[in-house]
Amino acid sequence: MCSIRCPIKVSIKDGQAVLIEGNSHAAGMATSLCPKGAAGIALLNDSQRVQYPQIREGQRGAGKWRRVSWDEALDYTAAKIKAITDQYGPESLVLGERFNLGTHVSQTFMNALGSPNYFSHNALCKGSSNTPLDKPFANAVTFRGTVEFPFTIAGRSGHQGLVALYSTKDGTEKDDPRDTLIPLWPKKVGIKNDRYYFAYTFDQYLYQSKENPREGFGLFGQFGISDGNPNRLYWSGHVGVGGVDLIPCRSRNNLGVGYYYAAPSPDLKDLLAPVLRIRDEHGWEIFYNFALTPWLSLGADVQIIKPSLASDTTVFSGLSTVIRF
Ligand code: SF4
Repeated sequence: MCSIRCPIKVSIKDGQAVLIEGNSHAAGMATSLCPKGAAGIALLNDSQRVQYPQIREGQRGAGKWRRVSWDEALDYTAAKIKAITDQYGPESLVLGERFNLGTHVSQTFMNALGSPNYFSHNALCKGSSNTPLDKPFANAVTFRGTVEFPFTIAGRSGHQGLVALYSTKDGTEKDDPRDTLIPLWPKKVGIKNDRYYFAYTFDQYLYQSKENPREGFGLFGQFGISDGNPNRLYWSGHVGVGGVDLIPCRSRNNLGVGYYYAAPSPDLKDLLAPVLRIRDEHGWEIFYNFALTPWLSLGADVQIIKPSLASDTTVFSGLSTVIRF
């Protein structure tokens, strides 16, 4: 029926196949199987399936068919192929089939006709054994919620928002993270089974064009905090100002400057202090994008970063091009 050969289990009752499901002995499948595979019984029992060549008579959909011999069916098909090829060219032909031991014959046939358009079941099916959703929440569930409210201050629009994230994924408990990082540490590993993150976000126009309210200049930022138990990012925040160029007729240009601060959890810093000094990290970024035409922009960007794992301040600069199609 299909060529990926998903492992299946077939239940028999009174000598008849009554149920096809995924084979639970195949890793990760449990009893999962796609609808086509599960409907295989219908293929076996369907008295209306095509069992011999037929040619349609009358209008499409009228349900009128005439049983014909294989010779007549092949002549009819060959005549149709020739007519279509003559009128539309060989690329207008496509052949699709279940991948099988004679597939190379089908592909050679299509090559002989001059069409590259061949596909098989393999092009459509990834296989239930590769894509089962058995116990999809067994390892953890993560919930993420976001709310954002429009805010108008002094006639200029903006937004204020909150982000909340909660996960049941297991992790190392802060009581004794050494147990995981130093495997020989003679203590039991502490495991937590939840984690969270909250953030506040905002953007606010300081100047907003009256002609086009989507153009202007304003503030934006986000501040977030996690459970810090222990992890790489305990709290962090960024603020910036940005928007379009205020020079008349240059509103396609945009520019901005931003600052960020990221703090690892104190537990992680303490833990790694003997071997690795982790500091809070912060940095600046400033950019300007200059629109040469409505579809082509050149940009310049400079970042100044005081990194978490190195003592020297680092400066990155770059140029970019944006082409809009
Ligand atoms: S996933 Fe593909 S190969 Fe497996 S039963 Fe379904 S159609 Fe057949």
